Amino acid sequence: MAAEIQPQPQARKPCLLSKIEALQDVVSSAVIIPKEDGVISVSEDRTIRVWLKRDSGQYWPSVYQTLSSSCSCMAFNPETRRLSMGMDTGSVCEFILSEDYNKMTPARTYQAHQGRVTVVLFVLEMEWLLSTGQDKNFTWHCSESGQQLGTYRTSTWVSGLQFDVETRHAFVGDQSGQVTILKLEQDNCSLVTTFKGHTGNVTALCWDPVQRVLFSGSSDHSIIMWDIGGRKGTAIELQGHNDKVQGLCYASHTRQLISGSSDGGIVIWNMDVTRQETPEWLDSDSCQKCEQPFFWNFKQMWDSKKIGLRQHHCRKCGQAVCGKCSSKRSTIPLMGFEFEVRVCDSCYESITDEDRAPTATFHDSKHSIVYMHYEPTTGNLLTSGTDKVVKLWDMTPVVS
Ligand SMILES: [Zn+2]
Ligand SMILES: [Zn+2]
Repeated sequence: MAAEIQPQPQARKPCLLSKIEALQDVVSSAVIIPKEDGVISVSEDRTIRVWLKRDSGQYWPSVYQTLSSSCSCMAFNPETRRLSMGMDTGSVCEFILSEDYNKMTPARTYQAHQGRVTVVLFVLEMEWLLSTGQDKNFTWHCSESGQQLGTYRTSTWVSGLQFDVETRHAFVGDQSGQVTILKLEQDNCSLVTTFKGHTGNVTALCWDPVQRVLFSGSSDHSIIMWDIGGRKGTAIELQGHNDKVQGLCYASHTRQLISGSSDGGIVIWNMDVTRQETPEWLDSDSCQKCEQPFFWNFKQMWDSKKIGLRQHHCRKCGQAVCGKCSSKRSTIPLMGFEFEVRVCDSCYESITDEDRAPTATFHDSKHSIVYMHYEPTTGNLLTSGTDKVVKLWDMTPVVS
């Protein structure tokens, strides 16, 4: 049989398209304007800037405005060109951008919060403006009348917010690592459920309304995929970052999750694969493989004159094992472990090379990411870094 010549795999990585460097301060939030080759940025230096791509391929400022206080977050709706900005003072300021993106007109100011606005979200279908603040309030306003419709008190301040238009559920992720689901009505809301899986605060939330899956990213370096629509309550952990997760975007057309972390890492997760939940860790007074007692099991240590051992857990089967019986490490991508983790010797034998095939790709943005935005129509990703630079990436080599 003739040997087939395999084509050399191409370098499949995000391609840096452009950099916006003429910034005085860190850009806390930015969006790509679809179809316009433009970027809107808000920065700690109190400016809001619109950048348009010129013939040279460079982004140049088209219009900018200096605000009376710094802007902490923003939402942009391309259909209405409405820009909603959450301010340090607690108010949300709305601007309408002109069709050519050369003019910015103030539209309305909402006195939404008592402290810094942490997240703002505009829902065109409902004409609702959702916001959360350091005053621990979640509020929603009617964007037509400007009137406050309702408010909900959260236990700690909120750092992630998503909304499902179809069922009117709001997903609220907070500093304690908890996610709360609220059902919103026109002027009241009810608590549906809360869930907690992170040991650090929630830094980003991303909702996929088609698969009905919620992704939460955390300062504990992990991402959890919560299967809300499946109603089975599965939660799958994705371990692929070495630092705080700072941004999450979902490319629904290719079913890929894009995540960015403060060490500059960009991970692209194939969400078309079926992953399994990690097992509960089992409790035992002795190694579940060799039966040697663990160090707190004084009785067995005394009876069998054995030295107590430290307890470890196999990440694949969840058994309590001693160090000797779990000396090997392996990736288990189908359980979300893209990094090597402790496994017991028998599980190590059972993991095939095929099982070890990564289900994510890893890239370096070369700056510490503070904010990330993905624009599906152009396939471009925006990262903003602590280096005061905004980078634009063509993701089509990896997100396709
Ligand atoms: Zn053992
Ligand atoms: Zn095991």
